[in-house]
Amino acid sequence: MSSEAASRIVVAEGLSEAALERLQNAGEVVHLRVCDEDALCTAVAEADALVVRTYSRVTARVIAEAKKSGRLKVIARAGVGVDNIDLLAAREAGIPVVHTPAACTDAVAELVVGLIVVLHRRIAYLDGQVRQGRFADLRTGGLRPELQHQTLGVIGMGRIGQAVGRRMNPGMGMRVIYYDIREIGYLPFVAEAQASAEEVYRQADVVTLHVPLTKRTRNMIDEAALAHFKKGACLINTSRGPVVDANALAAALHEGRLDGAAIDVFNPEPPPPDHPLLHAPNAVLTPHVGSRSREGLAAMNDVVDDVIAVLQGKAPQYQAQPEPDA
Ligand code: NAD
Repeated sequence: MSSEAASRIVVAEGLSEAALERLQNAGEVVHLRVCDEDALCTAVAEADALVVRTYSRVTARVIAEAKKSGRLKVIARAGVGVDNIDLLAAREAGIPVVHTPAACTDAVAELVVGLIVVLHRRIAYLDGQVRQGRFADLRTGGLRPELQHQTLGVIGMGRIGQAVGRRMNPGMGMRVIYYDIREIGYLPFVAEAQASAEEVYRQADVVTLHVPLTKRTRNMIDEAALAHFKKGACLINTSRGPVVDANALAAALHEGRLDGAAIDVFNPEPPPPDHPLLHAPNAVLTPHVGSRSREGLAAMNDVVDDVIAVLQGKAPQYQAQPEPDA
């Protein structure tokens, strides 16, 4: 038996058959039925690799258990955001965290393009109204400018922000403005950097969020931030639920300060029946499906290649690092 074949790989949450097959060639694959903190603590004590997706939380306590036994060599997140893994604790324990940062860039950007159009042309609202028997009266009044005369504000001009920008300018002819905490180099489309997020909120007709969840972005869109938005603007959140204060956003929608919001990510997930955004007007809701394209899911499953690389003593292709303010 080769040394890799002796590895024990714990898989919390599902992977594709093809990915599991690749892992099985590298070691013994153990599936977790429950992936709460206690179950993860027990599992990592006897694991060489741990693979998670969205809902398993690899906390400092889980990592401390792994450190005690000294066996865990790699933590893998099949996906982009790594906010469910304590990256600082993992770094301190010397355990690399691998992920698939570019896996679903296009999938999320496509959803965002759809949501911009749905919100701007009020497609979800009109669909409901037509089904309730309204028609002719919906065809009068309330004309809006075309998107080519509107401004898109991107918060976080990373992979997904850029993929959205590329599609909306020159694709739809929108003016694109953005704010990012780091210097963004060359962009293959026209976009104007702003000195602050508030400056984006003040000018944009549609604001779309593409930041990771960090200490600094948690509740980034709160009452104070919403006060800077243009009256009648729309907000799209496909980043992470806790980036938006749901109560503050719901209030802005109820009061008509915002025209609409499209939300793919919630805090918590799934949202409980009394979640404020489930009852807010002009909110278009999707169940965290930004990454769910055939190509996106396949690429997320490719995280197993980096698991195998680490188990074989090679450098992984994509290692996640804590954000400066994580
Ligand atoms: P990325 O790392 O390429 O880009 C994130 C950008 O945000 C970076 O340029 C970073 O500098 C910037 N940023 C960080 N903190 C900021 C702040 N406080 N203000 C302004 N900018 C800030 O990541 P990405 O691939 O574009 O993905 C972004 C996020 O989208 C992920 O972290 C993940 O949470 C989320 N996501 C959601 C889905 C979904 O299914 N809805 C799928 C994939 C990713």
